[in-house]
Parts: sequence; C-alpha cells; structure tokens
Amino acid sequence: MSDAAARREELVRVYREAAVCTRCPLAATRTTVVFGAGNADADLMFIGEAPGAEEDRRGLPFVGRAGGLLNELLAEIGLGRDSVFIANTLMCRPPGNRDPQPDELDSCRPYLLEKVRLIEPKVIATLGNFATKLITGNQTGITKVRGKPQTHQLGERTVHVFPILHPAAALRTPRLRETMSQDFESLSRLLDEPPPPQVSDPVEREPAPAPVAPRDDQLDFFAP
Ligand code: URA
Repeated sequence: MSDAAARREELVRVYREAAVCTRCPLAATRTTVVFGAGNADADLMFIGEAPGAEEDRRGLPFVGRAGGLLNELLAEIGLGRDSVFIANTLMCRPPGNRDPQPDELDSCRPYLLEKVRLIEPKVIATLGNFATKLITGNQTGITKVRGKPQTHQLGERTVHVFPILHPAAALRTPRLRETMSQDFESLSRLLDEPPPPQVSDPVEREPAPAPVAPRDDQLDFFAP
C-alpha cells in the first residue's frame, strides 16, 4: 500500500471515532459531527471556525452561503473542493453559532492535529479571526495578519499558515470580496513554494573537515 493510501486509511479510522465523539457537551446538541472533507492527501488545508446550521444538518463543512463563496474563490485559482481538505476548529455546531469555548476546543484539538498529521498539508489557510488566533497562538486581528504567510509547528507537522478573511465577512461587506481574491492569488503562489522543512527531516551536515596532519614541531609537545 502506498504511503498516501495508508494515511488515508488511518484518517478514515479517525473519522469513525470522531463520528461518535462525546468528549464535550456539544455532543448533546449537535445533529452531525462535521469531521471535514476533501482530499486526504491535499497540499492545501483550510481551517474555519465551527459548523453552522446547514453544516450540522448535512455533516459537511462550508456548505452554506460562506461555502458557496469559498468554492468561487477556489475556482478563481483553478482549484476545486476535491483538491483541498476543509476542516474547522470544532467539529460540532455550537448552539446559536456562539463562539467555541475553551473546553470544546481542547476536546477537538487532538482530532485536528491528527488530520494535519495524516493529510500532511504544505499550507494551512486559516479562515477568519477565530481560527487564525487559535492556530497561530497570536491575538493580532485578522485585518493585520491576512495575506501574510507564517510558519508554525502543529503537532508533528511544520506548515506554512496563511490567514485569510472568513468568507462570511465578505458576504457581509462586499468590498472585501476583492481583498479575498487577492489573498487567494497569493495563496496560489505560496502553494508553488517548497514545503517548510520538517523537524524529522534528516539534517544535511557539512562534511567533516579532513584531518590535519600534525606538524612535526608540534610533536615536541608530547615529548617525555
Ligand atoms: N463557517 C465556518 O467557520 N465553518 C463552516 O463549516 C461553515 C461556516
């Protein structure tokens, strides 16, 4: 079995476990666990905030209006949903779409790290303020950090992180649509860059210098 097929098989195992997860109170109010969807060997992974009502009903991420805009932006750079993987910081819908709570994020984090470990993305695009702050561990607002690549260690994986506005923001404020197009262009260029080096990559060492033969006059130091 190829390496990619083995990683996909393990992702399916994680999905089966997540589909019946009861690690946090959201298990009681959700309809469906939204594990994430797309290509299990994608170079590009998106991380949004949490499923909304439509996602909760259908069990798929970004299938409402924000998802429609995400599809359009992907098409602009020649990508489809089947070539990327889309996930969220939380797999279950918070009631009334309230902000995710720390205990919910803690419960879901191991699943998110497993997705990153098994998919091995080169670039993670964080969608909106919430996901960007959580993934980068930095509280600077999205309007300052959007469109600028960063490098982060997520579990075992080192990735380029590329913060983008949440598509819902561009639906609320139409002038932001053009900003999003520009950021997707930059994202496309970042995907052409080499992946960041992994901690596990073998270190290329300088060849050891050739031993220098001792000069005869130094041999005197060892004289009895
Ligand atoms: N908003 C998100 O952040 N995630 C979804 O899956 C849908 C809407």
